[in-house]
Amino acid sequence: MLTAASAATGLILPTGMAFAQAAPAASPPARGGNAGHYRFRVGDISATVLSDGLIGGPPRVYASDAPEAELQEVLRLAFLPTDRLTLNLNTLLIETNGRRILLEAGAGQTMGPQGGRVFQNLAAIGLRPEDIDVVVVSHTHPDHVGNLRTADGGKAFPRAAVFAPRADWDFFVRNDPDLSYMPVPEDFRRSFAAAIKRSVEPVTNGIELYEAGAEIVPGLTTLPALGHTPGMANFLVQSGNDQLLLTADLAYHPIVNVDRPWVPGPDRDKDTALASRRRIFDMAAADRLLVLGFHYPFPGLGRMLKTDAGYAWVPVGWQF
Ligand SMILES: [Zn+2]
Repeated sequence: MLTAASAATGLILPTGMAFAQAAPAASPPARGGNAGHYRFRVGDISATVLSDGLIGGPPRVYASDAPEAELQEVLRLAFLPTDRLTLNLNTLLIETNGRRILLEAGAGQTMGPQGGRVFQNLAAIGLRPEDIDVVVVSHTHPDHVGNLRTADGGKAFPRAAVFAPRADWDFFVRNDPDLSYMPVPEDFRRSFAAAIKRSVEPVTNGIELYEAGAEIVPGLTTLPALGHTPGMANFLVQSGNDQLLLTADLAYHPIVNVDRPWVPGPDRDKDTALASRRRIFDMAAADRLLVLGFHYPFPGLGRMLKTDAGYAWVPVGWQF
């Protein structure tokens, strides 16, 4: 049986090494040539999921307490590879009251070579990075802040006000975080911590720190979803009777963290994260909310069902 650390060594280390290399100016186009953007509406607010590409790693990292045989079986039954779980990077652009707001910056090249596509997907809908007015991140892990920095160290979204949760900023940026709770090798932890500081460096002057629970602009509220990191927030987008809940990293993949209750290894405070997951999933199920999972299969939209055993994820159909 693989331990978390030995499972991680084979697959996660190369991404850490990728971080050490200079980031290419642009990532290669997606192989299939399919759209990496998906438009819908939340009342009067226009919303577009913009894919930043993919990351991934050993399934064990994302389902830390799963019995090995059961984990393998669940992945097989879902027609997924048993040695690597692929995660999407579903950033969301909302346009409201004349402002363009990007929710999550995306990974860029910090977690492997398949990230960093948000710029080409912005271009596909006719926008440039300077058209973004506000960027809000749910927490400061590299796959959420990686795109804040250009390859030459500048601001990737030159006009944008950047909002980050204060407790994450204190933990990851102002201090040297103890990441021994993460089930990955020590050098991965080091490059992970360095990637955070490096990514946010261009926006440190002028960073807007928020407390989870704060309203960012009318129609966009943050909700405390603590545990995965000290300050992680969820986002609620509201217009009229329409609502959209963005659950950030409460769960990595619906197959292992929603349909099964397995615990993401990177959750720093696992009890608090579990309580946040249950509270917010219960709310999503009770209110039948439209939900966007940042790492769920693109475009990541669906609803949460409460079942006898826990929860089930029900993707919504593609709208043409
Ligand atoms: Zn993430």
